[in-house]
Amino acid sequence: MTRQNKSASIHHEPSLANQLLLASALVIVGICVHLFIYAIHRDDTLSVSNGYVARNETVFKNYNVVYPIFHNEKVDMMMRNDVTHQVDDFSKRVNRKNHDTDNELVINYTIIHYDARTLSIMFHKTERLSGRPTVRSQNVVTYDLQKQTRFQLADIVKDQTTGDALIGRILHDYFQHLKSESFTVSELSQLSSIGLKDIREFALDDDALIIYINPHHPDSQEGRAAISIKKDLLSLVLESTFTAVSPSLAQSTMEQPNYAIDRMPQHDISTDPNVKMLALTFDDGPGNLTPSLLDVLKKYGAHATFFVIGRQVPTYAGTVRREVDEGNEVGNHSWDHANLTRLSYAGLQQQIGSTQQAVKDATGGYTPVLMRPPEGVYNGAVAAYIASQGLRVQLWNVDTLDWLNRDSQVIYNRIMSAAADGRVILLHDIHPTTIAAATRAIPELVAKGYQLVTVSELDKYR
Ligand code: ZN
Repeated sequence: MTRQNKSASIHHEPSLANQLLLASALVIVGICVHLFIYAIHRDDTLSVSNGYVARNETVFKNYNVVYPIFHNEKVDMMMRNDVTHQVDDFSKRVNRKNHDTDNELVINYTIIHYDARTLSIMFHKTERLSGRPTVRSQNVVTYDLQKQTRFQLADIVKDQTTGDALIGRILHDYFQHLKSESFTVSELSQLSSIGLKDIREFALDDDALIIYINPHHPDSQEGRAAISIKKDLLSLVLESTFTAVSPSLAQSTMEQPNYAIDRMPQHDISTDPNVKMLALTFDDGPGNLTPSLLDVLKKYGAHATFFVIGRQVPTYAGTVRREVDEGNEVGNHSWDHANLTRLSYAGLQQQIGSTQQAVKDATGGYTPVLMRPPEGVYNGAVAAYIASQGLRVQLWNVDTLDWLNRDSQVIYNRIMSAAADGRVILLHDIHPTTIAAATRAIPELVAKGYQLVTVSELDKYR
């Protein structure tokens, strides 16, 4: 009995040290529970609920106005004020003597994208005043949830000039490529003059910027197009925070954009299929001699294809960008001129994939479609890998051996004597003798009536 009591007393009366330990453990558990609840609460603030703008419903026969609540004080207020303003505006236009007619106002919304930083939302409005046709409109608004403000596109652009040029070029080339019957020539040229400041509505989606434009009438819903542009094409244009892929926290029920642009369009080159053409190709660059070659090409309205070594690309990023900007083609020539037939799958990924990425990074999204294996050496496995990356093997049909014979007169003669319609000529833009030979040959070929085109352009016609 005594023993039992003693034992019980040990159990039920812990020492002071144990009591303190227990007390602090409880405090820690308490903090954890509190943090856990806080975390749930924080999470909960990411959920959306509906607000409702109430009005005298005898005035509005068909009336349903909702807006989302994000538990973000200023943003919620901005949305509520905006919706309330539209209700007030409609209310003023309603003919109050005619209560029994079919006035209608419906405002609802679709969340396009929602993450910790940004919110893009589309408001849909249907309104009808008695005896008038129904008017439906949409309005896309993007908010900065951290700064609790509304975004303009200019707020996230880091380089306005590059942005204007890029957006204009993307839209112009894309619509021209579509040859859409809904756009006339003058509308196409109007499209190419659209700058960032003209884009009033936009959304930031998971991996794309969506812009809403109407080339016919900027303020009309009729003919308005939603155009999504992959964020990785915009790395030179947008602040880096906004080019990162960011999954939406809300399930979007948005319809697909009218157009999706996921690849930088080739420059608009007007090639005449009835005039002889050939493709000059330059391997193993970019290097410090490449810009002088670009000068010559540009001067004579000529284009070439550059098969670049990935390892060189970051060092000469500006040169690669210039190659693309001036309408030339950039192809993949591996990371460091490896023999691809000796590589594992991972090795191929490293040699080819890293080069694709380096070109994309240097140019703000240009993606090569041609691969020239170093020395032209490849096998079935290499070819299969190349094809799986959306690339195709491109060799040549004239080898000038300019790496062997460093004599500009010899190389010039070889270019000129091999020149013929449909030829693909192999050169290297790393030898001064080759640059000298090309500098002489390019104006000569143009004078002889050749169109100097990129390999992809040649492929369209020959
Ligand atoms: Zn090479």
